Amino acid sequence: MSYQTIVEDNIDVLVVGAGLGGTGAAFEARYWGKDKKIVIAEKANIDRSGAVAQGLYAINCYMGTRFGENNPEDHVRYARIDLMGMVREDLLFDMARHVDSAVHQFEEWGLPLMRNPKTGAYQREGRWQIMIHGESYKPIVAEAAKKSADKVFNRICVTHLLMDESKPNRVAGAVGFNVRTGNYHVFKSKTVIVGAGGASNIYKPRSVGEGAGRVWYAPWSSGSAYGLLIGAGAKMTQMENKIVLARFKDGYGPVGAYFLHLKTYTQNGYGEEYESKWFPDLQKMVGKEYLDPEVSHRTHRPIPTCLRNHAFINEVNAGRGPIRMVTMEAFQDPHLEEIGWHNFLGMTVGQAVLWAATDVDPKYENPELTTSEPYVMGSHATGCGAWCSGPEDVSPPEYYWGYNRMTTVEGLFGAGDAVGGTPHAFSSGSFTEGRLAAKAACKFIDDGKAEGIVVSQAQIDKRRQEIYKPMETYRVYRNAITAGTVNPHYINPRQGLDRLQKLMDEYCGGVTVSYMTNDKLLNIGLKKLKILEEDWENGIAAEDIHELLRAWELKHRIMTSEAVIQHTLFREETRWPGYYYRGDFMKLDDENWHVLTVSRRDPETGEYTMEKAPLYHLIDDEEDKDAA
Ligand code: AMP
Repeated sequence: MSYQTIVEDNIDVLVVGAGLGGTGAAFEARYWGKDKKIVIAEKANIDRSGAVAQGLYAINCYMGTRFGENNPEDHVRYARIDLMGMVREDLLFDMARHVDSAVHQFEEWGLPLMRNPKTGAYQREGRWQIMIHGESYKPIVAEAAKKSADKVFNRICVTHLLMDESKPNRVAGAVGFNVRTGNYHVFKSKTVIVGAGGASNIYKPRSVGEGAGRVWYAPWSSGSAYGLLIGAGAKMTQMENKIVLARFKDGYGPVGAYFLHLKTYTQNGYGEEYESKWFPDLQKMVGKEYLDPEVSHRTHRPIPTCLRNHAFINEVNAGRGPIRMVTMEAFQDPHLEEIGWHNFLGMTVGQAVLWAATDVDPKYENPELTTSEPYVMGSHATGCGAWCSGPEDVSPPEYYWGYNRMTTVEGLFGAGDAVGGTPHAFSSGSFTEGRLAAKAACKFIDDGKAEGIVVSQAQIDKRRQEIYKPMETYRVYRNAITAGTVNPHYINPRQGLDRLQKLMDEYCGGVTVSYMTNDKLLNIGLKKLKILEEDWENGIAAEDIHELLRAWELKHRIMTSEAVIQHTLFREETRWPGYYYRGDFMKLDDENWHVLTVSRRDPETGEYTMEKAPLYHLIDDEEDKDAA
């Protein structure tokens, strides 16, 4: 193949994926590493990449400590309850104590934050959420990262991490290809911060046919945060903690601003309140400790996201759908009506367009909601990701191995979706995590921990061969096409993705089975996934560079899915009703499963090992005194 090999050498900090996590990393690396070489490799263009690419109307993680609103401990309590106890409190606390300064910087850089005209404080949407005019959020933040980095490589799909050959389990950089030129790119680096995305589109989506591609999380989030780390042998945590979102139907328009700011509420198809009806039974499943509406009310803490989903799903299954958002009251107020529309125009324009196209005016009709297909990510109300070290002043020994946000592979760090056990970070928290990771990466280098890294030409050549193999497969076998895209020798990326989505949906708790699974189903799913993996290895074909991108995205999605199934199989309980159900263990089981799950895939053999890790509650249970 005629593609050039382009080598970037002597990098100190390589940022792989520059969404909010990666941009935070590049920015902070420059502060702690004035003379260090900082390089960004990004699949799209950093100005419009990652989950924030199309804008946001709110920053969902802001303490407001300077306005006396909340403290980091409160945020840990909130996230802990929302995730049914399962969080890394050290990492959460560390993020929460630094996040406000990141938000203040965004404002300095030009992001318009709304202010409360009476108090001068930022305009709250909810207790943790502040409102912004955020269509250009990403370009504004990207500017800071671009100024900080020595070089930004846009349009690079990073496929693998490079490993040091002088010391086992130490990272040495990354490789990938340019999705426009096709060139092979090699980045030799002392440290790597993975800020790539979580995974949409590993489950069969509700939107198909003419709606295909409309999903909740960014469709370009291909699980590379997980695929890259798993491929390098990093330990992962909480990969079973997939998230299901209650969303406006078909456009996936977010509900936060509506619930929290517009004070809209939900009803079943017959105009009845339904949520509380499901709580007594639900309480029997999860225990009073996790669901007590009276305590939630008193402490101003919401009912956990998954449990609200549970009521929604059950009400629909009982034949009383559709669930609607009652907008008709709020929308009578012209100011709130404007906010309702702005909310979508600034971040989910598709919802506004869909309503216009389908004749839905929320002033005169309560729009339908639905529960989405599951997503694997780590920054909304879910905490999938790598098992990372916490900060030295907070973390107990099992959570601390020297460098904040370092994975179990030396020199390899994570930020945003890549870090496990840290839900409710959202955009600002992901940026903050990037900053924390970069500070630690610089220290790792300054401590001499990245000396003597060796990468052989053989490793570089091997990866090159692997990367372009799908194009070679196409070239060799394309004459055997029988009709359309059907070829007895290979599958193309779309066919592979369809197969993945179907099996994840049916065997690992997707929408068509109402999020239900059990050990039997999971084991079949695993078997089918292995066959898909084999088919990928032996016969995925890419007609052009675009399909090559799709092939590697599929690879990362497959690796993510395998971790999800393994973790779901391991945790023998139903910890998050409304996210998924283990039909063979329908109850939350604190006696056996008040733990975090940790996995490792052996990069040589592909074998999985699973273990339980202790779940420490570092923040006391005290009820918030000054809840907003
Ligand atoms: P969303 O718009 O659903 O992505 O959510 C934005 C923010 O609002 C997140 O911090 C959510 O956890 C929060 N949120 C959404 N719906 C609710 C609700 N019904 N009660 C409390 N918080 C919510």
